[in-house]
Amino acid sequence: MTPAAYAVLNLNALAHNLQKVRDYAPDAKVMAVIKANGYGHGMLRVAETLAQAQADAFAVARVQEGIRLRKAGLHSRIAVLEGFTCAEELGDLLAYQLDAVVHTASQLDLLAQQGGPAQIAAWLKLDTGMNRLGFSPKEFPRVSQHLSQCAVVKQPVNLMTHLANADDRGDTMTLKQIQLFRQTIGDTLGERSIANSAGLLAWPEALSDWVRPGVMLYGISPFPDSIGAQLVLKPVMSLHSRLIAVKPLAKGDTVGYGCRWVCEQDTTLGVVAIGYGDGYPRYAKPGTPVLVNGQRVPLIGRVSMDMITVDLASQPHAKPGDAVTLWGEGLAVEEIALCADTIPYTLVCGVTQRVRLVEAEC
Ligand SMILES: *Cc1c(COP(=O)(O)O)cnc(C)c1O
Repeated sequence: MTPAAYAVLNLNALAHNLQKVRDYAPDAKVMAVIKANGYGHGMLRVAETLAQAQADAFAVARVQEGIRLRKAGLHSRIAVLEGFTCAEELGDLLAYQLDAVVHTASQLDLLAQQGGPAQIAAWLKLDTGMNRLGFSPKEFPRVSQHLSQCAVVKQPVNLMTHLANADDRGDTMTLKQIQLFRQTIGDTLGERSIANSAGLLAWPEALSDWVRPGVMLYGISPFPDSIGAQLVLKPVMSLHSRLIAVKPLAKGDTVGYGCRWVCEQDTTLGVVAIGYGDGYPRYAKPGTPVLVNGQRVPLIGRVSMDMITVDLASQPHAKPGDAVTLWGEGLAVEEIALCADTIPYTLVCGVTQRVRLVEAEC
C-alpha cells in the first residue's frame, strides 16, 4: 500500500530543467547546486541523474555533503560552497578531491601551512554586496597574490561571487555587483562564476564561465511573481497523501485546534493525512489550495502535525482513500509558498524523513 504521505520525484524533469539552463546559458559550464539533500529531493539520486545528463560539476554547502557524494561513487567535480573551517576539513577536501571555496583569512593560513603538491582547486570568493561570505574588493589583490603562492593550490585560482537580489528584475544592485566583480578581478587568470538561478534567467550580464543553478533545476521559479511552468521548467517533486476521513459539518461547527475556523454553512469536511510533521507548512492560510481527485479545494482550520482539513463542498462524493496532491504536478509549490508566507525553497527542503520519496516510473 502507498504510504499516507509520499513524494513522487520525476527525474526526467531534472534532465529537462538542466537543458533549460543550457538554453539560457549556452556558453557556460553548469555547476548544479545540490546542497541540503538536493533541495529535499535526495542528493544522491539528483547527483546521479544530473551526472548522466552531463552536468559539468556539482556544488554542496558542507564538506560532509561532498564526502557523501564521493563515497556514493560520484566522480564529477564537486565544489564546497562554505569551504573548510579547520585543518581536518582541509584534509578531507584533499582526500576526497573536493574544490574549496576560499572566503576568509583563516582559510588562507591553513592553505599556506599545507605543503605541495598542488592538488586542491580553489574558488576565491569575492563579497560584492551580499555581505555573507567572501573577501572585500579591497582585499582581493593581496588574497589573490597569497593564493598564487600556496603550494597546495592548483593554479590559476577560480573566481566567484554571489548575487544578493537577482530575483528582483528591477533592482540595479545586481548590475552593480556584476560590475564591481569584473572591475575588481580585471584580467586576473582563472574561470569566473556569478549567477545562481535568478541571475542566469534574468541577467545576461551575469553569465560567465560557470553558472550555479539550484532551485530552477528542481522546476521551481526563483522569482516571487512567476511559477516554474512560465519559465518552461517542470516540477520534479509532487507531494501526495490521501483522504482518511470524510464527514458532514453543520453551520456553526468549528474545525481544528484553536477553533479558529467556523463553518458558515453546512458542508462536507475532508481530513488528509499530512501535516507539519511531514513538512506541510504550519502557517498555510485557510483557503490554500489542495487537490482532491485532481480538483482544487480549500484548506480550512489549522494545520496540525499529522493532518490537515479541507472543505469538500465542491466534492460531495469524495471518500476516504481518495488521492490528494499538496504541491507539484498540477499545483505549483510556488503558489503554496505564497499562501504560507514563505518561499518554495523552504517547502521542498523541509519535507521530513517520514515522507517516503518515490521515483516516478518514466
Ligand atoms: C544556493 C546557492 C546557489 C543556488 O541558488 P538558487 O537560487 O537555488 O539557484 C548558487 N550559489 C551559491 C553560492 C549558493 O549558496
